[in-house]
Amino acid sequence: AVRVTGLAKCFGDLKVLCGIDLSVATGEVVCVIGPSGSGKSTLLRCVNLLEEPDEGSVVVGGVDLTHEDSDIDAARRKIGMVFQSFNLFAHLTVLNNLTVAQRKVLGRDRAEANRVALANLEKVGLLEKANAMPAQLSGGQQQRVAIARALSMGPEVMLFDEPTSALDPELVGDVLEVMRDLADEGMTMLVVTHEMHFAREVADRVLFMDGGVVVEEGPAEQVIGAPEHERTRTFLARVL
Ligand code: ATP
Ligand code: MG
Repeated sequence: AVRVTGLAKCFGDLKVLCGIDLSVATGEVVCVIGPSGSGKSTLLRCVNLLEEPDEGSVVVGGVDLTHEDSDIDAARRKIGMVFQSFNLFAHLTVLNNLTVAQRKVLGRDRAEANRVALANLEKVGLLEKANAMPAQLSGGQQQRVAIARALSMGPEVMLFDEPTSALDPELVGDVLEVMRDLADEGMTMLVVTHEMHFAREVADRVLFMDGGVVVEEGPAEQVIGAPEHERTRTFLARVL
């Protein structure tokens, strides 16, 4: 579903990504771990072209987003993204947060957009909050709304960038549970996370990034449980 080849990205003199190869098959969950500044967010932002790669290609759902003739807006609609900060529209109700892009971008009518939105709110356990304002919700609830909003666009792939790291510890579990349910339903997911438990239990594969390269990748029990590389071991010793 996602294939990244030879991805390179610099900010000025700083080489942030130095030739990343990465693939996520349909229905697969891949977790990316690594120290702060290793380029994880930049990688995700390149996958949906929020950042323009200097080199390499990004193919999502068979469409090469990095090809000059490709319709980036159309391709991006296949990609849902959830950030550390939830970025809900503060002046809109929860329901309208979920319907505005469906109507403006996908051209769905109000009834259809509402139907899809309510189904996704139910999926994240927040149907009863449809008419609440974002400020009335906890951080964990806001993040679940953000997930439901992304799902309402019918993405082929979901990208998550540390979706629980801004949350109070007691709110993390509910968000991870929603993500686990999505994984169980067969959603294709690329997840940057510090939650090693989640990665271990849910990821089909784990990538350890450091210094803009993939140092090690493999099944979670291998990369987290029995890492081969010294850099991976050093990182895990700090976070586990
Ligand atoms: P964290 O775990 O802290 O989120 P990360 O692995 O996501 O870190 P990135 O956010 O991808 O790391 O950043 C990688 C490097 O690129 C950092 O040194 C960062 O300062 C730099 N960087 C990221 N975005 C920009 C930008 N727009 N302009 C300049 N430098 C940037
Ligand atoms: Mg980051």
